[in-house]
Amino acid sequence: MRVIFLGPPGAGKGTQAKRTQERFRIPQLSTGDLLRAAVKAGSPLGQKARTFMDAGQLVPDDLVVALIVERMKQPDCGNGFILDGFPRTAGQAQALEAELKKAGAPIDMVINFAIDPERLIERLTGRRICPNGHGEYHIRFQPPKVEGKCDVCGEALVHRPDDHEDRIRTRMEAYTRDTEPLIGFYRSRGVLQSVDAESEIGAVTKAIDAALGAVR
Ligand code: AMP
Repeated sequence: MRVIFLGPPGAGKGTQAKRTQERFRIPQLSTGDLLRAAVKAGSPLGQKARTFMDAGQLVPDDLVVALIVERMKQPDCGNGFILDGFPRTAGQAQALEAELKKAGAPIDMVINFAIDPERLIERLTGRRICPNGHGEYHIRFQPPKVEGKCDVCGEALVHRPDDHEDRIRTRMEAYTRDTEPLIGFYRSRGVLQSVDAESEIGAVTKAIDAALGAVR
C-alpha cells in the first residue's frame, strides 16, 4: 500500500506515520528526517539543504526528489510506504507520479490532515524531538515522563531551529502557497481522504486506520 500523508507542518503527520507504519508494516519515509540526517552527516546534499531548512523555506525540488526516489528503491519499500512531508509542491507531485507510473505502482490513498492554522503555532512552538529518532513530544500535549528527556533513550530533547515562531510563519506561507494546492490535485485523482487533525491523537489514528483499512 502506497500512501501520502498531506498537511501543514505540525498537523501530526509524523506522529501518525509512526503509528501507521507499525500497524500496516510499511515504512514511514519522511523527507524532513532524511534531510536532517543528511545535514547531520554533513553530506554535499545536507550542506545545500541546510540554509533552506534553517530559514523555514522549502529545499529545491530536484534535491528532494532525488533523495526520496533513492529511498523508495530500498528493499523495505517492497510492500509500499507512507510518504510523510512529500510531495510538497506541484513539481514534486508530478515527479512522483511519473516515477510510480514507471513502476506500475500508483498511490493508493492520500490522507489530508485538516486543521486550523492557528492551532499549528501552538503545536510547533511546544514541540520537542528526540535527536536519536525516537519521535516527538509536546511540552503540554504529550510531555515526556522526565522533563526534557526522551522516554526511550534518555537523551536531551531538541527544539528544532525551524520550530520558532518567525520560522513557523515562513513554513506556513510555503504550505499555503506550494502544498495546499495538492489537495485539489489528489482529489482529481480520486484518492483523497480527509481526517480531522484537530481531534485527539487516538481519534485521528482510528480515522486513518478506517480509511486505510478500506484500501487493503
Ligand atoms: P518537516 O520535518 O517535514 O517539517 O521538514 C523540515 C524542513 O525540511 C522543511 O521546512 C523544508 O525546509 C525541508 N523539507 C522537508 N520535506 C521537504 C519537501 N518535500 N520539499 C522541500 N523541502 C522539504
